Formats: sequence, C-alpha cells, structure tokens
Amino acid sequence: MTLPEPVETTSSPLYMNYTYVAGTGRSVFLRGLNERRLLARHCPGCSLVYAPAPEFCSRCLRPVGPPFELPGTGEVSTFCVVNFPFPGQVYEPPYVVAHIMLDGAHNRLMHLVREVAPEEVTIGLRVEPVWVDDDELDTSTTSIRYFRPIGRPTRDVAAVPYAQTPIGPADA
Ligand SMILES: [Zn+2]
Repeated sequence: MTLPEPVETTSSPLYMNYTYVAGTGRSVFLRGLNERRLLARHCPGCSLVYAPAPEFCSRCLRPVGPPFELPGTGEVSTFCVVNFPFPGQVYEPPYVVAHIMLDGAHNRLMHLVREVAPEEVTIGLRVEPVWVDDDELDTSTTSIRYFRPIGRPTRDVAAVPYAQTPIGPADA
C-alpha cells in the first residue's frame, strides 16, 4: 500500500484589527519621527536615557523629563539575519534585523540594517537612519526606511558585557 503525500500546509486566513496605544510617553518619540527627529527623555532619578521613552522610568518609576533630540547615529547591539521567506515579506532574504542603541540612549530600537552584506554586519557596527521622503513621513518607525553603516566599531565590542543596560529594580 502506498501512503498518500503528506499535507504540508493548509490555508487558514486569519485577520485581526487592533489599535496600538502608544501612550503619552512613546507618542513623543513617534511624533519626532514624523519630523525626522530622534527624541529621547532622561530619567531624573537614575539617569537612564530612553529613546523611545515611556512616560515613567521602568527602572525607578519616576516620570521622565522633557524630550531632547539625539544626534541620530548609533550602533548595532545585536542582530539576526533573516534567511527564510514568508508571506507579506517586504525584503527578499537574506536581510538583517538589528537592535540599535542610539548614541546618547540606554535602550534599543529594533530596525533593519541595509546597504551592507549580512555577513559584514557586526555588533558595534556604527549606523545612521535613512529617512523616507517627505510625503511618506508618519508617526511611525516606518519613517526610517532602514539604518545603514557609517563605520566600523569604535571600541572592542568583544569586551562589552552582554547586558549594558540595567533592567532590574534600582536597588536589586
Ligand atoms: Zn529612573
């Protein structure tokens, strides 16, 4: 007896409408993106600088300060290379998705890194944003088309501890 070919995929369309509530804190960052500005906020309690910033410091729970503009450059703190195709994919694999620590900030922003071969991306790679055209700007991270390299790491990234940013309570 010959077994039939296995069913490898089935089509199960699912649709979900939802509204992302950015909150007053992250709204500041998103409005900045609409003006090609990367806005950060400083915690007066523990000195962490957030970009994007919540309304309250996640470490010491104090309200963060007024927004100020970061220079815009940053570095790759970690990344992955997407090698597989999936429905709705914008870019053809392989491509790089990275966590980018903006200069002057202590947290990270996830975005694409392009204009560089995936095998040449490293932790510590210096990057800058490539903004969309004026008519495409929005209160969204899509206002940044992607980040591109501007130079090699300026420090010995192998010597940097895995967790640069304190993530627990201030007194822990
Ligand atoms: Zn704090």
